[in-house]
Amino acid sequence: MSSPIEYLKGVGPLKGEMLKKELGIFTFKDLLEYYPFRHLDKTRVDKIASIDPGADFVQVAGRLTGIELIGEKRGRRLIAHLQDGTGEMELTWFQGINWVEKTLQSGQAYLVFGKPAFFMGKVQMVHPEIEIFTLEKADGKKFLEPIYSSTEKLKTRGLHGRAIGKLTYALLQVISEKDFPENLPAGIIEKYRFISRWEAFNNIHFPSSEKMYTHAVRRLKFEELFFAQLRLGLIRSTRHRFSKGWTFDKVGDHFNTFYSKYLVFELTNAQKRVLKEIRKDTGTGRQMNRLLQGDVGSGKTIVALLSMLIAADNGFQSVLMAPTEILANQHFNGLSEMLRDMPLSVKLLTGSTSPKKRREILKDCEDGSLTILIGTHAVIEEKVVFKNLGFAVIDEQHKFGVAQRAKLWHKNSLPPHILVMTATPIPRTLALTAYGDLDYSVIDELPPGRQPVETIQRFENKRPQVMDFLRKEISKGRQAYIVYPLIEESSTLDYENLMKGFEEIKSFFPEPKYWISMVHGRQKAEQKETNMRRFVTGDTQLMVSTTVIEVGVNIPNASVMVIESAEKFGLSQLHQLRGRVGRGSEKSFCILLTGYKISNDAKDRLKILCDTNDGFKVAEKDLEIRGPGDIEGTRQSGLLNFKLANIVQDRVMLEVAKNLAALVIDKDPDLTLAENLPLKNYLQLQKGKTPWSKIS
Ligand code: ADP
Ligand code: MG
Repeated sequence: MSSPIEYLKGVGPLKGEMLKKELGIFTFKDLLEYYPFRHLDKTRVDKIASIDPGADFVQVAGRLTGIELIGEKRGRRLIAHLQDGTGEMELTWFQGINWVEKTLQSGQAYLVFGKPAFFMGKVQMVHPEIEIFTLEKADGKKFLEPIYSSTEKLKTRGLHGRAIGKLTYALLQVISEKDFPENLPAGIIEKYRFISRWEAFNNIHFPSSEKMYTHAVRRLKFEELFFAQLRLGLIRSTRHRFSKGWTFDKVGDHFNTFYSKYLVFELTNAQKRVLKEIRKDTGTGRQMNRLLQGDVGSGKTIVALLSMLIAADNGFQSVLMAPTEILANQHFNGLSEMLRDMPLSVKLLTGSTSPKKRREILKDCEDGSLTILIGTHAVIEEKVVFKNLGFAVIDEQHKFGVAQRAKLWHKNSLPPHILVMTATPIPRTLALTAYGDLDYSVIDELPPGRQPVETIQRFENKRPQVMDFLRKEISKGRQAYIVYPLIEESSTLDYENLMKGFEEIKSFFPEPKYWISMVHGRQKAEQKETNMRRFVTGDTQLMVSTTVIEVGVNIPNASVMVIESAEKFGLSQLHQLRGRVGRGSEKSFCILLTGYKISNDAKDRLKILCDTNDGFKVAEKDLEIRGPGDIEGTRQSGLLNFKLANIVQDRVMLEVAKNLAALVIDKDPDLTLAENLPLKNYLQLQKGKTPWSKIS
């Protein structure tokens, strides 16, 4: 199964190289796991005169009546004419012309397969698959022929979707049942009546019946989901049992003083519960790796702060990392303010810290006089050495790569406890898979007194009315955001729009008492900082910005969020932006400005947003609309690239797989029981394929 693909009869070095490059097929096994995207009932042959213009694929049998080469240079193409007694169609090739010309023969009968197109009332097919028609092929009993996706490059070498099927067929002839040792425990196979792996691989490619195809898909999908859950579960279980971590065995003066004297509100029950979970983890002597999910505004920061105070009570330093300077600044200002009267040293380190300050901070970290270091990526640079780092908080997780997290592990003789906080809630199904190796906490309750943000959509021509509404709100002492889309950081057009918008807004608010801040990615750090600060302190009433204010920014007095060209934003991003308002006790509004012509998808997105304020519901919908590939926070994880399974459509099976994996691990965490030998052998075989160990 691990033989290089070029050794398969009919492949050879040249085609082998192309299969590797174009489809990532390196071995026999890879080819077997390159599944067809559909099957075709081969007995069906369409007549040219009755081809459905909307059909994805048709199959036509006919005779070539002529072949011609036309055009010059780049416009050169080969056209073959095909007749089947009901009509004529044109087959066109733009690439691989020489090869096609050599192969095709005028007068010969061919079977042609491809997507039809209509041009001036005539049927055409571009780059069809074509093979010599024989009677034997025509009258075969009903059988389902697999169709594989191919690439233009492969097609020019004759490796079209059908040819790949021929290779797979050849492969299934040279391997046998013994190449497919069972990888599931007998109990699971019996309970779920799975067919054998050998049967499954045969039938997913060349089904003996539709029913067998269904069985094959079910078995192979289950394998994907189950082994993903098993691997993640084993990583978590191994960490729980063996990874050493610092023991925080007491809650001391720092925590108690802060809690009783300086904490101005009562924690929500959800916050208390999460704090208990963290307390429990950090008291065991094992390293904590916990994901904290909570909707925007649910109060994750205070949980992080209280945890860092417990670390301090046990003699440890902490870091808090944020993905942007704005956020790092805000955390620093917020936390220093709350800790103002506490005997603790809190410092800020970012890319724009002056060299002199930086040296000071590095010294304080190293000699232990600093307790909490807040900052951007700068805090995990090699030069930052701690005397005794024990706790690390990563805020707004999705902006940090796995590799960056891993750097934290080398900051002390044992790795610090890690709390990963994400503000983009992820549906449970996705969290199970993408973060299955982390322990999971959720704040599912907002602080009391919050009113839901009223969200409405308005067309652009209502901008003057929207601006009047803004004036009314800011005249009551509120503040407002106006956000412009910035699709690409480098896009000049997007910046022009932002600048135009800024001028326009200035003209809407000519009164000398109103001031406007503007923040965007092309500004220098100090410029951003100044504008931000003026808005925080209330010196400016309006904040015009790009999505740099997307995550985490907390200004409770801001009560209106206007989003320009809202149709251009993704759902999670819109929810994030909306989360910038509704943070105080005043009623808040989110106004989605859009053009007239928007896609149905965009309409759906905006409607969901207008209908609910619940980030978890928004995330569920987002997952349904976009599929798992694009969900914020999972893109770099690479854990969701299943070949067959789809975690939205197959969520029931995912739950089953997860529960079964958990049962196995609970009973036999080292997979030493005889019944689990198939699992162990299979995992061994798969080793090194995914960098599972790197996940923090
Ligand atoms: P997020 O979870 O989005 O990071 P923050 O931690 O920024 O949310 O908290 C949002 C706001 O809610 C802050 O102003 C914070 O002080 C406030 N807050 C947090 N917890 C509570 C609570 N239990 N009661 C009242 N206000 C709270
Ligand atoms: Mg936050």
